[in-house]
Amino acid sequence: MTALTWLPYVLIPLVILVIGAVTWALIARRRASSRASIDDLRRQAAAQRGSEVAKRPSGPPSPVPSEGAKVTPILPTLDTPEASGTRLTRLRSRLAKSGSPLGAKLLNLLSRDHLTDADWDEIEETLLVADVGAGPAAELVAALKTRVRVEGAANPARVKAILREELIGLVDPNSDRSLNLTGHPTVVLVIGVNGTGKTTTIGKLARVLVADGKTVLLGAADTFRAAAADQLQTWGSKVGVRTVRSDRDGADPAAVAFEAVKTGKAEGVDVVLIDTAGRLQNKQGLMDELGKITRVIEKEAPISEVLLVLDATTGQNGMQQARVFSAVAGVTGIVLTKLDGTARGGIVIAVQRELGVPVKLVGLGEGPDDLAPFDPAQFVDGILGE
Ligand code: GDP
Ligand code: MG
Repeated sequence: MTALTWLPYVLIPLVILVIGAVTWALIARRRASSRASIDDLRRQAAAQRGSEVAKRPSGPPSPVPSEGAKVTPILPTLDTPEASGTRLTRLRSRLAKSGSPLGAKLLNLLSRDHLTDADWDEIEETLLVADVGAGPAAELVAALKTRVRVEGAANPARVKAILREELIGLVDPNSDRSLNLTGHPTVVLVIGVNGTGKTTTIGKLARVLVADGKTVLLGAADTFRAAAADQLQTWGSKVGVRTVRSDRDGADPAAVAFEAVKTGKAEGVDVVLIDTAGRLQNKQGLMDELGKITRVIEKEAPISEVLLVLDATTGQNGMQQARVFSAVAGVTGIVLTKLDGTARGGIVIAVQRELGVPVKLVGLGEGPDDLAPFDPAQFVDGILGE
């Protein structure tokens, strides 16, 4: 009897305990399964986001990883570049020295007693041979004909003055040839076919800017060959200017350009000069590459100048290249290199007329300070052999 009276006291808590344990087990299982489904949802969402990022069409390319983009050290002893002002006078003497027969030949022809149609044809031909271009050559002949008829050709000094005036007019003395150095930093993109002198021009330009008291950073976006970045870096290090480059061949040029501008902006540099490759395999490829570089740079800072580098010795071939480049990039200025090596300085006139963009700088040799601002009067005096 006594055993039966305490039985409910044992059984009831036991039942309660069992019910409690079962309920707890059920709740725990429920929680585990709902967490699993939340995790599943999170995983799904993440997967979706990932594919969206991958699908996004034209975001900035992943910038060069910071350990991949190097800012190069500089040499302990630096050059003192020539100030920009004194370079101008060298333009004239270099041109005169390149032995341009253009001026002498024109003056000789114009000084003939009675200029016949054949003489005028010869004058026009001389201009065409000097790469002046068909349109400008015809215009010049028409203007000279009128003035010689009215003013006479008896006085050689007068003839020379007329020719000088007309040539300067043709080169367009009133267009603004100064480099646009606005922007923080000023971003200058340098484009053009391989071998025209882009890297050399950037090296020389960095020196001009340093001489003018600016801080400069170079971006080696010609990533095709490591030698191209080495060449740029060598130029920069001579005047204490650093180069942002990738440490592997074939890196994305847009990523290097982006990194250079970003670094220049972060460091408060005045001017960032970007070198590019000039592979002209086809117009579409060029357009895609330059388009991408431009878009990516402009996410960081606006581009102040797009300088097209042209080799003055390449004549009509160079003009053809100029047309392609100007069609794919908004060229704001022309750099005409190797003017020291040609008697055909007329390309200055032809290329400005064709592209509607001024020649801003000229290369006058391979020396480090052989780059000068372009000046129409000095140029004309140079080709007239003054
Ligand atoms: P890039 O391929 O366009 O970068 O051309 P580079 O800068 O490597 O130059 C190609 C060659 O042209 C080099 O040998 C330069 O020294 C030479 N060069 C560049 N500018 C001038 C110039 O104004 N005059 C002369 N004579 N040679 C130049
Ligand atoms: Mg180069």
